[in-house]
Amino acid sequence: MASQTKFSLPDLLVIASGNAGKVREFSHLLEGYGLKIIPQPEGLDVEETGQTFAENARIKAIAVAKASGHWALADDSGLCVDALGGAPGVHSSRYADSDRARIQRLLGELQQVQITTDSENRRAEFVAALAISDPSGNVLIEVEGRCPGEILKSPRGEGGFGYDPIFYVSEATQTFAEMDKAVKSNIGHRGRAFSLLLPKLRALMPTAM
Ligand code: IMP
Repeated sequence: MASQTKFSLPDLLVIASGNAGKVREFSHLLEGYGLKIIPQPEGLDVEETGQTFAENARIKAIAVAKASGHWALADDSGLCVDALGGAPGVHSSRYADSDRARIQRLLGELQQVQITTDSENRRAEFVAALAISDPSGNVLIEVEGRCPGEILKSPRGEGGFGYDPIFYVSEATQTFAEMDKAVKSNIGHRGRAFSLLLPKLRALMPTAM
């Protein structure tokens, strides 16, 4: 019989996403843990009804773990702009119909607020929340990674996706869209969340590397 701790240790981890790119990225990050990484069951669509990234990550992890009968890892992420009261926040992906339109809307709203409040504040942060649930719906691990930066007045750089071209990180003197993938993984919100998650996962799985 497999060794038991307080939890029933998994050999399978379901990624609470149907996005093949995300599943690949997570598989890479979780190499060496003896876990087979698989995408969530087809046709499963979990509504993100939470008010925070952490809440959405929990909702997705619990729903997918219960539906699949395996441990599930979920993430939720987005951009929070100070002068917009934290918008677009949990609505980051739904702010407009395309990356280009989302960037235009954000720049337009920020400019409007700056004119009305006579403020220069362009501070923002990317946030990534991760949660792991067991099949009974117990959330075993929750972490949040943050990357502070500021919103440029116009896009810069060709790489990345989403809001990357307008998010400038002074620590790197580059936008996310100008950075090497490795630099973004290192200082970005998702990379930071993962570096908080991995030791906690290791502690639950004593036989892992
Ligand atoms: P989700 O967590 O995959 O649902 O992503 C939420 C949304 O936040 C994405 O659709 C993007 O608009 C935005 N977002 C999250 N992470 C990043 C990033 O690293 N760069 C640019 N945009 C991001």
